[in-house]
Amino acid sequence: MSETILIKGGTIVTMDDRNSIVRGDVLIRDGRMTEIGNNVDAIESEKIDATGCAVLPGFVQTHIHLCQTLFRGAADDLALIDWLKQRVWPMEAAHTRESIRASARLGIAELIRGGTTCALTMETVKHTEEVLRVVDETGFRATVGKCMMDKGEEVPAGLLEKTRDSISESLALIEQWHGSADGRVRCCFAPRFAISCTKELLIEVAELARSHRVMIHTHASENRKECELVEAETGRRNVAYLDSLGISGAHVLLAHCVHLDTEEMETLARTKTNVAHCPSSNLKLGFGAHSRDAGAADSGFTGCGWRRVQQPPRYVYGNAHRSIAAETCSWAGSAAGHAGFAHGDDRRRAQPGTGKGDRQFGGRQARGRDRG
Ligand SMILES: [Zn+2]
Repeated sequence: MSETILIKGGTIVTMDDRNSIVRGDVLIRDGRMTEIGNNVDAIESEKIDATGCAVLPGFVQTHIHLCQTLFRGAADDLALIDWLKQRVWPMEAAHTRESIRASARLGIAELIRGGTTCALTMETVKHTEEVLRVVDETGFRATVGKCMMDKGEEVPAGLLEKTRDSISESLALIEQWHGSADGRVRCCFAPRFAISCTKELLIEVAELARSHRVMIHTHASENRKECELVEAETGRRNVAYLDSLGISGAHVLLAHCVHLDTEEMETLARTKTNVAHCPSSNLKLGFGAHSRDAGAADSGFTGCGWRRVQQPPRYVYGNAHRSIAAETCSWAGSAAGHAGFAHGDDRRRAQPGTGKGDRQFGGRQARGRDRG
């Protein structure tokens, strides 16, 4: 039997080409908007009174670690490398299947409550299949990557992998889960960052991601110490190093990119590599935040569509849905969805006034009903 939901009397933020904002009703059948207008009527199975509320597309969280939800508040006042080595890595290594499940369930519940319907998440080295199961069970939409770590100092034994094992386990998850639940659950490669991965692993990931047509989700240039370590080891700036190994392109998302030089910005723009801006994370760890405008003025970044919001931008927000202005957030969230980071091909938009809409909702559990 078809499921019909009628959202009545809201202020509809359409995210169409004109950024139209209209008052009216939205009719959803089987997870898709089928009508937008005034006095829409239907024998609905569920009616939501949206008087005084905004009705808008679900936000897209472009960088998160669902496995870290339970660590909140347990690692303050530390710089990135110490934060990882002293707190986050040991806690990740201590995860069991049960604790990972609890962490993912809580993280997804919080995301849904905040109106986020879709996420790109990097998990830890082990138990990623539990997170995939939770995504499947909750009706959430996500692209999930098993964290890859085959080198590094002070890495707990539970996280340090052999290169071959890291790749074969990632491939097995991709083969089992990518595109499941009608495309709602997706997988990607998630090498942690250049410091945690051998050159051999990164080269193979670059090749496999292209041949398997999946994303690469990694971190880059989050703080200065990390950049210095990469440069000392490889002789290249972080983005240049990753690009030289094939980790660049429209299927690649680099989280953070706070500390880039002009050449790196030009590389990102030329290769159409995506960057997730994570202001709340950067503020917590005290690393500053990259200036989009400064980057655009000094480099080729405008080629990524940063200033032309009608174009799918390559620069989106992660870790941020509670901390940035609603206007910015709705633009970033929807634009990211259109750009297709986390679910690839869903670029359709609502069409107010035509009586027809075609934007896919994230699912029954992910409608963003938080009115607080
Ligand atoms: Zn991260």
